[in-house]
Amino acid sequence: MKYISLNHNSQPVNFQTALINGLAPDKGLYFPEKIINLPKKIIENIKTIDDTELCYEVIKDYIGNDFTEDELIKIIQKTIDFKIPLKKVENSIFSLELFHGPTLAFKDIGAKFLALCMDKIKNDFDSKEITVLVATSGDTGGAVAKGFEGLNGINVCILYPKGRISQVQEKQITTNDKNVIAFEVNGNFDDCQKMVKDAFNDIEIKNKIILTSANSINIARWLPQMFYYFLAIKKIENNNQNIFSVPSGNFGNICAGILSKEMGLNIKLFIASTNINNTVPRYLESGIYNPKKTKPTISNAMDVSNPSNFIRIQKIFNNDLQKINKVIKGYSYNDSETREAIKDVYNSYNYIMDPHSAIGYLGLKSYLKNPRSDVNGIFLSTAHPIKFKEQVENSIGDQISLPSRLKKIMTKKKNTIEIESYDQLKDNLLRRVN
Ligand SMILES: *Cc1c(COP(=O)(O)O)cnc(C)c1O
Repeated sequence: MKYISLNHNSQPVNFQTALINGLAPDKGLYFPEKIINLPKKIIENIKTIDDTELCYEVIKDYIGNDFTEDELIKIIQKTIDFKIPLKKVENSIFSLELFHGPTLAFKDIGAKFLALCMDKIKNDFDSKEITVLVATSGDTGGAVAKGFEGLNGINVCILYPKGRISQVQEKQITTNDKNVIAFEVNGNFDDCQKMVKDAFNDIEIKNKIILTSANSINIARWLPQMFYYFLAIKKIENNNQNIFSVPSGNFGNICAGILSKEMGLNIKLFIASTNINNTVPRYLESGIYNPKKTKPTISNAMDVSNPSNFIRIQKIFNNDLQKINKVIKGYSYNDSETREAIKDVYNSYNYIMDPHSAIGYLGLKSYLKNPRSDVNGIFLSTAHPIKFKEQVENSIGDQISLPSRLKKIMTKKKNTIEIESYDQLKDNLLRRVN
């Protein structure tokens, strides 16, 4: 498979190069040159195919010959080695729980797949060491850290804004093996991002270190997100129409779902559920794409007003808004609606949702209005409620307990390097190779 740049000013590259580059040299996002049609027998027999085998069939043609079958199967096994339950919440509404991975967020799946792929190809870069550099506002950092932890020959440097991420998130970033280095930045998320950008543009760094990113536009993080749409449909026992509601920020997750549908998976419709940063729902309604200033919300992993992956969705539909509107509906919700939903679902069904998942739930409710026996409405639960403990406890008026896996990490001592300027970051990066 070749990957083209959506800015159309760079050469097509194979999977491996697209993975290391992250973005194409012309700053465009990579996109597969063609969408694979899965053989009918896979779709028809989906319930009888083993999980790993199914994921292998879904992704193998996008990887091409860069890995052997054996290598790819092993990567998939390690990527999906936790449960992904589909829980019935109420009539015709299900929660696909994507938060049982190492950092209790759906980003674990993409981050792990990316890390294992990079681990496999690192030997092609002979003497130079690979350093993965990421800025995080919270969730991404932990997932990337855990994805790469313990992989020899790859360093991961994570920059986070001091005092601005949750306690659980901080522990997940700062208590890992030696190859994960946490930089605690005296500043905000934008400062962290600026430092990362400066490093990528620094010739001296470029000459000594192979720098790569692990952010959500990387194809190796984006594509494996197809797995859970397939695994969810595999679990469904009726022949109803399937509708997915995806809490969306950068629109990578929903875009992977749409790709799955284009490949033949039995999905009728997607609901793009957002918080008040609702550029896409407004666009679907009006045809005008008009990002506004990003506003902070309690579903902060979705505080994105210019979603980088939306261009991939437009590409799938050849930029035809009518076609997009047939497959995607958009709804948005403010914080008080989100809190209300968390409370109502807890009181009525004894089910606890985090603020992001709650927005997914609300999207389904808006679309379905009344329960319908001919439809399976599935919302993606993208984070464990404990990751947004305070907000959730305030909404439900009850305590939620720490999962046992987290108890251990909360007692570990944090290990960080405090910095406040790009030069300090640079010194640290260079010192490791000199
Ligand atoms: C990242 C994230 C999202 C948004 O996913 P996108 O692929 O960026 O649309 C939703 N919920 C949680 C908890 C997240 O961490």
